[in-house]
Amino acid sequence: MTAPADEHKTQHFLRQIIERDLEQQGLAGDRRFAGTPGDAAHHAAAAPDTARIRTRFPPEPNGYLHIGHAKSICLNFGLARDYGGVCHLRFDDTNPEKEEQEYVDAIIEAVRWLGFDWNVGGVSHLFYASDYFDFMYRAAEALITDGLAYVDEQSAEAMRHNRGDFNTPGTDSPFRSRSPAENLARFREMRDGLHADGAMVLRAKIDMASPNINLRDPALYRIKRATHHNTGDRWCIYPMYTYAHPIEDALERITHSICTLEFEDQRPFYDWLLEQLARLGLLAHPLPRQYEFGRLNLTGVMTSKRKLKALVDEGHVQGWDDPRMPTLFGLRRRGYTPESLRAMADATGASKTNAWIDRSVLDIALRDDLESRAPRAMAVLDPLPLVLDNWAEVYGSADHLEACSAPAHPQRDDLPPRRFMLGQRLWIEREDFAELPPKGFFRLFPGNKVRLKYGLIVECTGCDKDAQGAVTAVHARVVPDTRSGTPGADAVKVKGTITWVADADAVPAEVRLFDVLFTEDQPDAGGRDFRDVLNPASRQVVQARLEPGLATAQPEDRVQFERHGYFVADRVDHQPGRPVFNRITPLKDSRGR
Ligand code: ATP
Ligand code: MG
Repeated sequence: MTAPADEHKTQHFLRQIIERDLEQQGLAGDRRFAGTPGDAAHHAAAAPDTARIRTRFPPEPNGYLHIGHAKSICLNFGLARDYGGVCHLRFDDTNPEKEEQEYVDAIIEAVRWLGFDWNVGGVSHLFYASDYFDFMYRAAEALITDGLAYVDEQSAEAMRHNRGDFNTPGTDSPFRSRSPAENLARFREMRDGLHADGAMVLRAKIDMASPNINLRDPALYRIKRATHHNTGDRWCIYPMYTYAHPIEDALERITHSICTLEFEDQRPFYDWLLEQLARLGLLAHPLPRQYEFGRLNLTGVMTSKRKLKALVDEGHVQGWDDPRMPTLFGLRRRGYTPESLRAMADATGASKTNAWIDRSVLDIALRDDLESRAPRAMAVLDPLPLVLDNWAEVYGSADHLEACSAPAHPQRDDLPPRRFMLGQRLWIEREDFAELPPKGFFRLFPGNKVRLKYGLIVECTGCDKDAQGAVTAVHARVVPDTRSGTPGADAVKVKGTITWVADADAVPAEVRLFDVLFTEDQPDAGGRDFRDVLNPASRQVVQARLEPGLATAQPEDRVQFERHGYFVADRVDHQPGRPVFNRITPLKDSRGR
């Protein structure tokens, strides 16, 4: 099921474009769709498209998706959902060298997890660009026959040199004036494997003097002997991305082809190519239009696929799904919810410039999401024993346990209350005791009284220390008749309340505390090696004590540990009886954001 429309919608220029287009009725009116991708003839006899717009998310299956892709997924699928359209999941698998089935599967899983679906009305809209190789070849022959493409046999170096640069117009290739018949024969030889890899390319014949270098006869096809994950060894020529992508959009009847800003200079070629192929009768009108938006850059987050791979390969992280990784698998394992990622994508809108956005947007979205639904629990992350020395006097026996309860969530009446014990021996946070209290410290120090949250008031009497002077246990006395929820509870006023768990029923657990991977906001900016700014403390593991209710937590259960933040039971390592929790985010940003 595609995720429901999230309530809040940030208005942005892409929405304005779509709304304008829908108002003008130019799209739905004469746009036909045969139910599957195809050429002009395929769609000509079909009914008008019932999808009001068509968008697509076109990943290249050469790596794992990251948070930048989440932005693109949410934008494309979200716009289709909001405007009565359909979004296609299209594997842009025209490059045979780097693509693998493993990535195809991982991408499918990640898009589903984010809450989006390409099945609409019982029809799947999952497509592979490599299924269009036959059409792309046919389109290339049509361009050649029409005098709009030629086979260039210059060396790669000569080709680069003759392209010119920003200040210098290009120089025509000596092969540019060959006849269509010669070019066609040569191109067929390329296809039939008669020439070596790199010996020649097919180029569009546009304008070697164009101020836009992308229009100086861009390459359309290259020779490359490589086994393709979908088409095997059928082809030894492969289309270039810039040629393939517009065609993929047109065959699928995409209306709004949304991409990142670096493709802006490619738009004139995108339009040129589709108009020529429509004029030649191969593609149906109306043609797709390309729109560019600024990519998502979050401070402290590196999203280059190559550099993420280096992090994994060099062992700086423990794998692609390491909770510190910005991959969707990493974010999921860390505990971020699909809802929070969608909210982050919406909150960051779409702009026409590449801006850096503070990474706190993601944590803010996560807190917004979990605040209203994650159950609460107490957890002690840095446990120090607290002994209540007068326990037996007050309760008749050192082994006596007092039953306590607390709401599972301040607003959620649907959840039963939490139940746990209070006893003579407890665990508290080491930082909640100070032998010599600094100014403004209201927690445990000799002579001070604090409330044990949901329990009672205790008065600190002192501590035990080891030979090195480290505190090994804190001592206190119960202040009688101060149980939380009893009439006497307010009789004694205290300034501090601390969290705790009882030794009798606490659940020992491994808790993993994550911090930013890099100490710089732009780890790989300006040619800097990101290895130089790795945060050595990005992962810390503590042996914590948790409230007993957490003994039954399931992998991916999320919970707020009171005062510590939001945590998730690790989806890989957590087992009942051997709990492992990850901190998703503290309750507040350490930088105050
Ligand atoms: P590369 O081209 O280096 O392999 P890529 O990140 O462009 O990496 P694709 O698989 O081509 O990978 O990306 C799929 C889609 O996701 C593209 O439309 C791309 O523009 C978009 N995308 C990738 N990174 C971001 C980002 N940081 N913000 C927004 N969209 C992004
Ligand atoms: Mg790309």
